[in-house]
Amino acid sequence: MVESKVLVRDCQFGASCTLREHGWHGLRIAFFAIFPFMVRLRFVILPCMLSMLLMGCNHRAADNVVSSPGHALKGGVLQNSPVLHVLGTLQDGGAPHMGCDRPCCRNLFLRPATDRKVVSLGISDETEAGGELAMFEATPDVASQLHALQSAAGLTDVLPSIFLTHAHIGHYAGLMNLGREVLGAAGVQVYAMPRFRAFLESNGPWDQLVSLGNVELNSLQADSLVQVTKRVQARPILVPHRDEYSETVGYRILGPNRSVLFIPDINKWGLWDRDLAKELALVDRAYLDATFFDASEVGNRDMSEIPHPFMVETMALLSELNASERAKIQFIHLNHTNPCLSDTSVAYRQVLEAGFQVARMHDEYPL
Ligand SMILES: [Zn+2]
Ligand SMILES: [Zn+2]
Ligand SMILES: [Zn+2]
Repeated sequence: MVESKVLVRDCQFGASCTLREHGWHGLRIAFFAIFPFMVRLRFVILPCMLSMLLMGCNHRAADNVVSSPGHALKGGVLQNSPVLHVLGTLQDGGAPHMGCDRPCCRNLFLRPATDRKVVSLGISDETEAGGELAMFEATPDVASQLHALQSAAGLTDVLPSIFLTHAHIGHYAGLMNLGREVLGAAGVQVYAMPRFRAFLESNGPWDQLVSLGNVELNSLQADSLVQVTKRVQARPILVPHRDEYSETVGYRILGPNRSVLFIPDINKWGLWDRDLAKELALVDRAYLDATFFDASEVGNRDMSEIPHPFMVETMALLSELNASERAKIQFIHLNHTNPCLSDTSVAYRQVLEAGFQVARMHDEYPL
């Protein structure tokens, strides 16, 4: 970056110094002295001048590309912040969903959509010490999500550290891509709660990632801060969920300027030992479980039987909050059947009119 700037300065201004020293008289003499040569050599001089101009532009363009990561929002104090990237918004099974022949997936089998990826958040943080990346979750879509994160951050040769929430396939199965059959990674830092860590260490194929050194496992502790990148920390928070193989956590992600709550999977809010509204007050934004919109999506079964908060339940629970609190909510982890995956649906409009948001792939949020 520094080199580019030097080149720009050299090629644009270097030749002007001696002329300035000689003043206008010298300029006139010099012009008439070289005019006949300029006419004779016009086919050489003009293209040279043109390419010098273009080189100047290129140096500036390259400069912009290199300096863009971490500067996603222009203006104000948030320039130079670490950036949170939305890498996926779907429930574990993704879309198109295996075995689904309904309108929600039928066309996606023919034309897969680039904005339908399983739930994941990325972090990029660029400081003078270098660029760092992190991913929350390692989903079955991790290949394209890693590419998206590296490209958005301009850090194409950096591997992220990985922070996991729980051992359901949509949230950790992407780890398999780090093994010798695919990436053959070395020492990727993976963070999991103690029971989850023990599960990974003692069950194939995950134990092979450990024994071959593709990953290095780190234990998380509930409610204890862990360093994500130089300027970003996270606090894992236990949440109720089907815990067959591991604990389930959400994260409070803390940047130097802003903080975000991330709870992709949770049983009903009433079963949590915390108050959602109070947790919301502690952060600037919250990505929350929105697996299903309402009961019509699950065959009008009793909503209390379904171990997720329906979007209509979450909206009703928070309806008394003021508009700025409600606007913090970004619904995420949407099932392939959720009508809010389409921004032209009645349900989607209903969510926006109630003052809430639906998370969108490729959104960037400075922390
Ligand atoms: Zn899930
Ligand atoms: Zn479907
Ligand atoms: Zn789950």
